[in-house]
Amino acid sequence: MPTDAAHLLDQALDDVVTRYRQRTPRSAAAYADACAVLPGGNTRSNLHVDPYPVLIDRAYEGVLVDIDGNEYDDFNNDYTVAVLGHSHPRIAAEVHQVLAGGTNWGGRSAAEADLARSIIERFPAIEQLRFVNSGTEANLMALVTALDATGRDTIVVFDGGYHGSTLSWVAEHPRINVPVDVLRLPYNDVDALRTAVAQQGGRIAAVFCELMLNSGGCIPATPEFAHEIRTQCTASGALMVVDEVMTARLGHGGLQRRYGVRPDMVTLGKIIGGGFPIGAFGASAEVMAMYDVRTRGATAHGGSFNNEIFSMRCGVVAMRELLTEQELDRMNATGDRLRASIQAVFHRHEVPLVMTGIGSTCALHVGDEPPVRFHRHPLVDRVRRHLHLSLNCRGLWVAGRAMIATSLVTTDAQIDRLLGAIDDWTGTHAPLIRTVAQEVDP
Ligand code: PLP
Repeated sequence: MPTDAAHLLDQALDDVVTRYRQRTPRSAAAYADACAVLPGGNTRSNLHVDPYPVLIDRAYEGVLVDIDGNEYDDFNNDYTVAVLGHSHPRIAAEVHQVLAGGTNWGGRSAAEADLARSIIERFPAIEQLRFVNSGTEANLMALVTALDATGRDTIVVFDGGYHGSTLSWVAEHPRINVPVDVLRLPYNDVDALRTAVAQQGGRIAAVFCELMLNSGGCIPATPEFAHEIRTQCTASGALMVVDEVMTARLGHGGLQRRYGVRPDMVTLGKIIGGGFPIGAFGASAEVMAMYDVRTRGATAHGGSFNNEIFSMRCGVVAMRELLTEQELDRMNATGDRLRASIQAVFHRHEVPLVMTGIGSTCALHVGDEPPVRFHRHPLVDRVRRHLHLSLNCRGLWVAGRAMIATSLVTTDAQIDRLLGAIDDWTGTHAPLIRTVAQEVDP
């Protein structure tokens, strides 16, 4: 027998899925075709939406258009990559210039060092860095660098942490993670961290952390936790690896500047390529010296696209001209106001929902208080799915896990539309939400 909450959710989801199907028949047909050649019709799992994902045709500024002609205000920003909106005119001009000069040189360009410098200026913990093609690859490289640098075999990670498709601790039993010894600890749990380091410190090569769990639900680290990681790493000789792949957009020097912690290694991705594929891992010159090709016994680190010219050149434009401190502050202040406004909607309707996050990214949780630990409950996932589909049917594009992100081009009118839709959704489904909350946290 389904519980009350499950039964109400079934009904509500049936209703919204019907509306979703009515709006997007071409997407449905395209999805059926894609399933023949892509497993599940998909090559990026987090883009899947049940019953099928909408197929995007084009995008402009902060708007997406699907193949049925529906327009969406973009509050996902390609899971935070599209911080500049879509086809920013300055980036478009740079792309044309790059093309005019030819691509795939198999040689170095000045843009590599320019981009490295623009990053190092923001992140004092990085003295030298190397580029790769994704955040996943950046963290894989940070991992093998830390193992090599310390001669140890284990890493500490946190429950709900996501450092890429093969370094993910969001699922309970990840199947495709890299085979490395892992101590998986609860997030924001200072005591668990101290105990693990006291017992196994000599084996720990690195502690991988996000200063805000991103995929894990936009849950910020407590300042005490962030500083304790630093303390424990220093005491045990492990490297503190701060993953700023998603959080670099939350401030000019990322979250490490806001928290006032200096990691040993930093990983980056998403926004630093101006919208093109990129990742980077950086550390002290001493740690990075293993890649110094001038030295005997240097470790070779190749990669056909490590210095890919669109990413390098557009990255320089983004980091030097567009993602200035003032612009990032403006975007994040808008995000802070949006999160507070959504929370005010929830209060007005007296529903146990919370938006957590920092600046331009936030996510939905069921409960009265913001969670400090990662926690998954199937009913909560279904509430998120319902919100996602409901907003989608109102022309609002948020992540399937009900993460909401603003970009530099988000307009006041878009924010008003989002708040109006969340207000309607909350008012209509308040009894359902309260029933779910009762079952999730009786
Ligand atoms: N680290 C964090 C914190 C992320 O959020 C992500 C992606 O969302 C990654 C790493 C992986 O980056 P990519 O998708 O570029 O491989």
